[in-house]
Amino acid sequence: MDHKVLFYEELEQKVRCKVCPHNCILEEGKFGLCRVRKVKSNVPIAINYGEVTSIGVDPIEKKPLYHFKPSKNILSLGSFGCNMTCSFCQNYEISQNKPKTQYISVEELINTIPTIENNAGVAFTYNEPFMWYEYIYEVAKKIKELNKDINVVIVTNGYINEEPLLKLLPFVDAMNIDLKGYTNRYYNKICGAKLEPVLETIRKSSKHCHVEITTLLVSDENDSVEEAREIAQFIASVDQNIPLHLSRYFPKYKMENHATEVEKIMSACKEAKKYLKYVYVGNVMGVDNNTYCSKCGNLLIRRDGYSVEIFMKENKCDKCGESIYIVL
Ligand code: SF4
Repeated sequence: MDHKVLFYEELEQKVRCKVCPHNCILEEGKFGLCRVRKVKSNVPIAINYGEVTSIGVDPIEKKPLYHFKPSKNILSLGSFGCNMTCSFCQNYEISQNKPKTQYISVEELINTIPTIENNAGVAFTYNEPFMWYEYIYEVAKKIKELNKDINVVIVTNGYINEEPLLKLLPFVDAMNIDLKGYTNRYYNKICGAKLEPVLETIRKSSKHCHVEITTLLVSDENDSVEEAREIAQFIASVDQNIPLHLSRYFPKYKMENHATEVEKIMSACKEAKKYLKYVYVGNVMGVDNNTYCSKCGNLLIRRDGYSVEIFMKENKCDKCGESIYIVL
């Protein structure tokens, strides 16, 4: 369904979209880079309002969020469109194409949330949620008007302008933000974007809500110990409590590099742990992804795949009293 774009600037015969740092110039009938925004009859519109390509119930650990409502489920949904063009995209069918959709109204979606067992709330994920901004903003705002205990989660590439981000953040409880690498070369070459706006989203969002970061380590591109160090140092400069998920890459879509060596992932993880309290590994079987107290080493959360056992009642260590960055 069409919906007027919320952030734009009128130019002569054209419109500048101001949702994300691409700031595309939109013309009648011509889409911006995300392929969801264009001008129609002189009005800038997004064509994916309420249009859902995927919906399901996931363990919240799958987002991944390890320090936010552990062991809960979360209603997860996405639309189509993305403002990045990552060569390794896991969801290119919906991010780079326009597949079949089903329309779900704001009310219908909100009414579904309480029908799900052990549910933490709703997560906008699968494609880039900020490309679905007009819809997620209305859903998130409405949810918080109705019931503040329903959590709103965003799983994002972090490529958004300041104004729309700040407008949405009061209604968001948790985000997992991709920090895809730590060089402009990587962002330009592999993702079709720039690094700095993502860093800015991380800085700003962490002041408003729970934040975790994911980096996909791609063989021969961003899997060096040096890059892991830079990523960890940047996150620590924001807050050393922010959990970092280092995930193993497998060939997908246009990227043909071999799967990242497990030893490289483990070296990156070891390096990142010098700067951050919580570093986890994704897409590798048999690694220890438990949460331990950073002060005394006490086991706080045991994870085996998506099976989770929690050994803490409040957000502090039962043994030494150290406060833990976690929302239970
Ligand atoms: S949201 Fe889409 S149209 Fe708008 S600036 Fe970003 S990529 Fe371009």
